[in-house]
Amino acid sequence: MFRSLLNIISINIAKLGIRIIKFLKLGSGTNLPGRIARKISPEILAHLVKQTKKEIITVTGTNGKTTTAGLISSIFEKQGRKTVHNRKGANMLTGITSAVAEKSTLNGKLDCDNCILELDEAYLNPAFEEFNPDIVLVTNLFRDQLDRYGELNTTAKKIESAVEKSAKIKPLRLVLNADDPLVSGITDNFDEAGLTKIFYGFEKIEHVNQQEKVFSPQETVNCRCTKPFTYEKIFYGHLGHYDCSCGVKRPNPRVSGRACIDVNHSDIVIKPENCEEFPVRVNLPGLYNCYNALAAAAIALEAGISPENIKKGIENYSTTFGRAEALTLKGKEVLIQLIKNPIGATEVLKTIKNDEKGKFFIIINDNYADGRDVSWLWDANFEMLSGYDKIAVVSGVRAYDMAIRLKYAGISSKNIIVKENIKEALLQALSGVNNGEKLYVLPTYTALLELEKLKQALN
Ligand SMILES: [Zn+2]
Repeated sequence: MFRSLLNIISINIAKLGIRIIKFLKLGSGTNLPGRIARKISPEILAHLVKQTKKEIITVTGTNGKTTTAGLISSIFEKQGRKTVHNRKGANMLTGITSAVAEKSTLNGKLDCDNCILELDEAYLNPAFEEFNPDIVLVTNLFRDQLDRYGELNTTAKKIESAVEKSAKIKPLRLVLNADDPLVSGITDNFDEAGLTKIFYGFEKIEHVNQQEKVFSPQETVNCRCTKPFTYEKIFYGHLGHYDCSCGVKRPNPRVSGRACIDVNHSDIVIKPENCEEFPVRVNLPGLYNCYNALAAAAIALEAGISPENIKKGIENYSTTFGRAEALTLKGKEVLIQLIKNPIGATEVLKTIKNDEKGKFFIIINDNYADGRDVSWLWDANFEMLSGYDKIAVVSGVRAYDMAIRLKYAGISSKNIIVKENIKEALLQALSGVNNGEKLYVLPTYTALLELEKLKQALN
């Protein structure tokens, strides 16, 4: 009795907190209400998530979590499912608690078919102490700025231990990117009855309307036997078709795809193991978004969603905050794409390189959530913009580091404008965009949060 009263108080305070934060435009209101709610009732998240009628789905991995979770949610809604989803990419326990509390009733009932929860790799273990998911998706494992000197395998092991513990309590389906050897090997040495692995991956990738092939930074990835993998095909980073002389090789995907990548969209064909293939238009730029779409389709097929609704959900998806988010600011066309690590940033730069009518604006902060070390900028392939002859505006706490990086990449310093103040820089960048042109805004995470506030103020 006392506990349920605490739960109700906790939910009401969280809901009120979210409203106040939104009303006062103090930000997106994602973490603080959840933090307070958890102080009042530590079991609040478990209490709410357990009421999910169908699958509880967790999305993790280095890149693509937010977009993939958004795509899954869009697909499920086309099937008429009620979903709860931590939309703003607040992927720690406090953010998830806020998102779930926001959707629940005042007396603590959660009327939802599916929880689709994006979770940072480091938070899987504590999260699975509170609830057990039915499906876990791992998108990819790249070296992030925070662990650039650490072991990528450490992240894989964290995911592995969380999944193993959870599968002992409740059967779990693990949906894995077959093309990423670090991901596909997760739980290889684990044969708990409660665990099923499902793979997705691309068989073939073509690029159209693109300039010369661009080098993508490679990461050396070694097999568990310690030898480096050999590749028959490399799609980007360490993703592709690989094998090792010890016998480890890319698993056969249950959901496979072919992709044709154009400048601002892609066409993919999805082939599930036991049914007809179907074409889908992905209205987001880049190969990395094709992976996000294929992952979302694999999850949807696992949850019994029809190919027709998968197609509709992906094609009608409008992006969330900062993940290839298209919008108009001061009458100018803008596309915001978060950058946070060399491989992800390089994929985004390819889009800019291929758009003759594009200009760009980069904002680099080095706050805790961005990673304090900005040396990753040197690993991203800014060289592909060498000789760029339009104005590039750079901003943020590390604006000068970024300007130097661009200069070394072969952009003339007379074309680089540095303004540390983000608002001034944004206005300057917008003023340089002519009719029919597009401004590509590339912020780090905390710069993205600042942009979100500016966006509200400008429109
Ligand atoms: Zn091996």
